[in-house]
Amino acid sequence: MKLSLSSRRYRRITKRIIKRREYFATLSDTNLQAQTGKLRAQINSGSTLKDIMVDAYAVVCVADERVLGLAPFDNQILGAVAMEFNNIVEMKTGEGKTLTATMPMYLHGLTGPGNFLITANSYLANRDAEQMGRVYRWLGLTVMPGVAAEGQDDNQRDRQAIYAADIVYTTNSGLGFDYLFDNLAANPTEQFLHGFSFALLDEADAVLLDTASTPLIISGAPRVQSNLYGMADQMVKLLDEDRDYERSEDTKNVWFTADGIQRMERFFGITGLLGEHYADLYRHLVLALRANVLLVRNRNYVVENGEIILLDRANGRQLQGMKMQAGMHQAVEAKEHLHITQEQRSMASITYQSLFRMFHQLAGMTGTAKTDADEFLETYRLAVYTVPTHKPMIRDDLPDKLYVTNTAKLMAALDVVKRAHANQRPVLVETGSLSLSNLFSRLLLREGIPHNLLNARSAAKEAKIVAEAGNMGAVTVATSMAGRGTDIRLADGVVEKGGLLVLGTERMDNPRIDNQLRGRAGRQGDPGTSIFFTSLEDTVVQENSPRWVAKYRERHASRRQQQLRLRGRFKGVVNAAQKRLMVSQRASRFQTLQYGEVFRIQRESIYRTRNRVMNSQNLDASVQRVIHNVAADYVQQHPQYQEADILDFIYQNVDSDFLPSALPQLGRPQERVVYLEQLIKDRIQRKRQQLPANDQWQYFQRVAILKAIDNAWIDQVDNLESLQAITNNRSLAQHNPIYEYQMESQRSYGVMRGKVKLNIVRNLLQSVLVMKPDGSIDLQFA
Ligand code: ADP
Ligand code: MG
Repeated sequence: MKLSLSSRRYRRITKRIIKRREYFATLSDTNLQAQTGKLRAQINSGSTLKDIMVDAYAVVCVADERVLGLAPFDNQILGAVAMEFNNIVEMKTGEGKTLTATMPMYLHGLTGPGNFLITANSYLANRDAEQMGRVYRWLGLTVMPGVAAEGQDDNQRDRQAIYAADIVYTTNSGLGFDYLFDNLAANPTEQFLHGFSFALLDEADAVLLDTASTPLIISGAPRVQSNLYGMADQMVKLLDEDRDYERSEDTKNVWFTADGIQRMERFFGITGLLGEHYADLYRHLVLALRANVLLVRNRNYVVENGEIILLDRANGRQLQGMKMQAGMHQAVEAKEHLHITQEQRSMASITYQSLFRMFHQLAGMTGTAKTDADEFLETYRLAVYTVPTHKPMIRDDLPDKLYVTNTAKLMAALDVVKRAHANQRPVLVETGSLSLSNLFSRLLLREGIPHNLLNARSAAKEAKIVAEAGNMGAVTVATSMAGRGTDIRLADGVVEKGGLLVLGTERMDNPRIDNQLRGRAGRQGDPGTSIFFTSLEDTVVQENSPRWVAKYRERHASRRQQQLRLRGRFKGVVNAAQKRLMVSQRASRFQTLQYGEVFRIQRESIYRTRNRVMNSQNLDASVQRVIHNVAADYVQQHPQYQEADILDFIYQNVDSDFLPSALPQLGRPQERVVYLEQLIKDRIQRKRQQLPANDQWQYFQRVAILKAIDNAWIDQVDNLESLQAITNNRSLAQHNPIYEYQMESQRSYGVMRGKVKLNIVRNLLQSVLVMKPDGSIDLQFA
C-alpha cells in the first residue's frame, strides 16, 4: 500500500500514542485523573496542543476503557489524529466515530470553554453529551449538552452554564441561534458564548453541504405591509415564457427579458422600471415571477387550511412553521390567492458556512465525504482523510435496476422485500420522500408484511426504531436522513441470513447520500447487501434529464416489459441526472457562500463595535468623536450654505427649541463644522446635568449607542436579504450579480454607518429621562 506523506505522519503519531497508552494504563485512577492538571500546566507554560497531543490522546484511550469499557481501536486513534490536522475524517458507519471524538474533544477541552461537538440533531447531542460526558467528567473537564432534549423547554436552558463548559455537545442551529442572540444582548451579562476555538462536526457532510444554503434567521418587528403582492402577481401571470422571461438551463433560476421589462412598463404606464424609483415594485415583480415559475405546488409546498406549508426537498416532509424570507412567502400566498400574512423583518441572520468559518480550528467526521473532497477544501480549507475500516468491508453493493415507470419499479422492489422477508432477513427500505414512504408502507400492508414506518416527528423515537432494524424479520421503511447517527446492530442469526439488506427505492440527490444509505449495511465487517431500484419517473431523473428521456417515458409507459437494461443510452441516465443536480446544488451553495461573505464582513464589524460599546467603562471619548463626525458629515453633504437647511438640521436632530436668531453667520464650511459640533456638545452637556452620577450617565450613553446601532443594523440585515433576492435576478443585463451585490451592499453599509452616528446624537438628545420614585431611571427614546 502506498501512503501519502501526511498519512505516514498520522500513523507515526498513532504508534507513539499506542506506546504511551501502555504507560498510562499502569497508573492508578487517581494518577490518571491527575494528568489533566499536568497537561493544563503544560499548556499554560507555552506548549501547543500538538505538543501534548500524544499524551492527551493516550490518557483518553485509557479513560475510555476504564469508564466506558471501550478501548479505542488503532484505526480510531488514527482518525482522531487526522482530526487534529484539519481533516474531515471519513470513517464508515458503525466504526465508532462517537468514541473517536473523545480524543480531540478532550485535547481541546483542556484549553477551557469554546469547544463544540456539533451533531445532526438534539437527540444525538444529548445522548452523546451524556454517554461520552462520563469520560470527560472523570478526567476533570466540564461538559454540557447545548440544546434542550426533546420535550424539554428551550427557555429552561442555562446558557450561562452551557457555554462556560469546556466541551459542549450541540447542534448547528442551536449554536447559530445562540450566537445571534448573544449579539442582540444589551449588556455583557446577557452574552454567554466564549469565543469559537474548536468545532468537530459529526456527520460533517450533512452539516456543511446539505444544510449549508439555509440561513438561520431571527425574525422580529413586522415590516410595513406591502400591497404590491397581488398586483405583481397579476402582472406576472400575464407574461409569456421565452418572450417576457426565461428560465435557466437547469430551471433553477428565472429572469425577465428586455421585452418583458418593456411590456410591464407599458402595462403600468411607467418608464425606468429598473431604476431606483421603482425598486420596490421591481422587487415584488421578481418575487412574483419566482413564485409562479420556480415554486411548484405539491412539490415545494402544499396549501392547507389557507396556509402555505413548505416541504423539505430532501424527504418531502412538511416543514411546519417555516417561512420563506424576504417576501417570498407572501409572493406565493398571492400566487395561490390566499390571505397575505404579515411580513417579518429579519433582525439577525447567518449562514452555517459563515458560522463555521468563524472557528479557529475545525474538523469533521462522517461516513461519506470523499465524493465532495474538493468542495470541502475550497470552502472550509478542510481535507478529507479516509481511515480504513477496522475489519474488511464485505457488503455486497449490487448494480442498480432501472424501470420505465415508478409503479413497475416499486412492484419489483416489493418483490425483493417479500422474498427477503419470507427468509426472515431484515430489510431497510429507503425512500426519497415521506409520501413515497407512505406509499411503500401501503404496498407492504397489502401484502400483509408487518413493518415499521419511520414517520415519527421525534428523532428519539426514530432512533429507537432504526436501532431495531437489524432484528430477525424486521422490515423498516424510512426516508433518507431518518435515524442518521444511530447504530444498527444485527441480531443473533441474522449474519447467517446475509445481514441487513438495504433497498433504495430511488437514487437520492447525490452519490454521497446514496453511499450513506448503503452504509447502513455491512458495519464493522458484517455481511450485508445494498441495491437501488430506479425508474425514469424518479424525481431526480425527471427534473434533470434531457428531453429524450421524457419522450421515451411517455412512449413506453404502458408496455409490458418495463425493466430496462443498463446498456447504451440507459447506462448512465440516472448518474447523469444526478450529476446535473449536484452541479447546480453546488453552484447554489457557492453563491450563498459569496453572498454570505459580504454579509459576514459587515456583521462581524457591527458585532465588534457593539461589544466594544458594551464592555467600555467610559464612552465619553467615543461620543465626542461621533459628534464631530456628525457635524462634519452634515457639512460635507450640504456644501452650499443655506440657513434654512442648517436650521432644519438643528431642529430635527439637536434642539427643537433652537432660536433662529441665535444662529450666527457661518460662511466657511469649517466654521459650520465647529459651530455645529459645539452646539451638540453643549446640548449634551445640559442633558448630562440631569444625570449627575457618572455611572448613570455611562449607562445612558451605552443604551443610546446600542439602540442606534441595532436599529440601523436590523434595517441593513433586512436590506441585504431583499437585495440578495433582486440582484440574483439582474443577470439579464449581463451584470455580475455578486459584484453588484457587493457594490450595493458596501454603499448601503456606508449610509448605515452615517445613520448610526446621527441616531446616537438623536438618542442622546431627544430621549426622555423619567426619574422613578425608587431612584431608578426610565429611558424613553424618541
Ligand atoms: P459511527 O458514528 O461511526 O457510525 P458509533 O459511534 O455509533 O459509530 O459506534 C457504533 C458502535 O460501535 C457503538 O455501538 C459503539 O459502542 C461501538 N464501538 C465504538 N468503538 C468501539 C470500540 N473501540 N470497541 C468496541 N465497540 C466500539
Ligand atoms: Mg455516528
